[in-house]
Amino acid sequence: MAFHMKEEDLPDYEGQEDPTDQKDDHKTSTRTNRFKESRIEGSSTIRASGFGDFLLKEELMKAIVECGFEHPSEVQHACIPQAVLGTDILCQAKSGMGKTAVFVLACCQLVDLSEHVVRVLILCHTRELAYQIQHEFMRLGKHIAGLKISAVYGGSPVDKDKEILTKSCPHILVGTPGRVLQLMRDNVLQVPQLTHFILDECDRCIDNLDLRRDIQQIFIRTPKKKQVMMFSATISSETREVCKKFMQTPHEITVESEAKLTLHGLLQYYVKLEEKHKVKKLVNMLDSLEFNQVVVFVRNVKRALALDKILRDSKFPSMTLHELPKGHEDKATPGDVIKANDSRIERFQAFKEFRKRILIATDLFGRGMDVERVNIVINFDMPGDSDMYLHRVGRAGRFGTKGLAVTLVATDVDNEVLDKVQDRFEVNIQEMPEKVDATSYLNA
Ligand code: ADP
Repeated sequence: MAFHMKEEDLPDYEGQEDPTDQKDDHKTSTRTNRFKESRIEGSSTIRASGFGDFLLKEELMKAIVECGFEHPSEVQHACIPQAVLGTDILCQAKSGMGKTAVFVLACCQLVDLSEHVVRVLILCHTRELAYQIQHEFMRLGKHIAGLKISAVYGGSPVDKDKEILTKSCPHILVGTPGRVLQLMRDNVLQVPQLTHFILDECDRCIDNLDLRRDIQQIFIRTPKKKQVMMFSATISSETREVCKKFMQTPHEITVESEAKLTLHGLLQYYVKLEEKHKVKKLVNMLDSLEFNQVVVFVRNVKRALALDKILRDSKFPSMTLHELPKGHEDKATPGDVIKANDSRIERFQAFKEFRKRILIATDLFGRGMDVERVNIVINFDMPGDSDMYLHRVGRAGRFGTKGLAVTLVATDVDNEVLDKVQDRFEVNIQEMPEKVDATSYLNA
């Protein structure tokens, strides 16, 4: 790819992060905490037995075949039979092994469609993830006659949400906690007949105190008797205890050891260099590596916008999830498929639809997001901790496929995080060689 690179100073953009707007405090109601537990190998294997064993509705089986799912993954095998019995589930399993389908299939199997009321509520931490989960419900639930699914999240007009909820109430509602709580407080959303409550990326939702408060506020507005399910690749023992306060006798899925969270299809390298050489190194990699789509992670929105501009100026098909700030619209590329004020969801859609091949992202995109064609992740800036490293690199190598993750290491702190990653997940991350054989990270 041709480029003309000048290492310029980062322009002065202001960061904009996901707002959390609800500040009320409330204690989670404490419920019985006896639980069953099962450990899985790390859920990387695909089970030989079929989805047929789960005795799912015909409509679901048809959609499963259409999605090309041949066999359940280990985590699906461990969870789906329990979930369809209505048991509470607390599930930890590695990234990209189909945790979403566990709750989507279980809820579609169990949901009562006799009335137009919200029966299933799924909460997650970003609007992009809410949008993605909504679409997974639409994909797997498409043959279920009358099933209605909606998503509500910040950054889209609240009046539209209100209209949908009052005029054609969905059975399944996916949302971000701030927007869901706002709709509840405005008395537009009531859930007296809710039967299922799901928290995706539960550790992120529980560990962030603003999100936790919102979730508690929502939770106490739901009926006492309901099925609760929570999912993540990373759940510390402290967070696990908090999660269990929302549950009754949950079926717990854990990984035997953190080493089991490592994605074995993923080749992982680091490059040690000075900060000022990062852009040049990135450009070299983008020129020499073979990628379908690549996600480049940086520390904050300001750096994402700046790096994206540098790459676009050098004719790379790059984008971010963020609108250009007011007054900086001239920084957009004329005629680009991404417009300066396209929303985050429109941008996410564009990347999913392969209209761009390089996404410069912050940790906003680091968890949960599933884009099939992403085969390379580059940590331009080292993530803040080892959990985030695991989530970020998990954007490549989805569902046991091959992928490549390269991390740029520029400071002592970066080195410490790298060491922690290697210790915790028992993975040997080597220095990136001059030449990397493309067959080692490209899927056939
Ligand atoms: P997780 O939530 O565990 O990170 P996802 O639910 O996002 O993973 O699933 C990752 C990808 O694997 C998605 O594209 C999903 O459609 C796909 N997938 C899920 N289950 C199966 C299956 N049994 N067979 C093939 N692909 C699957």
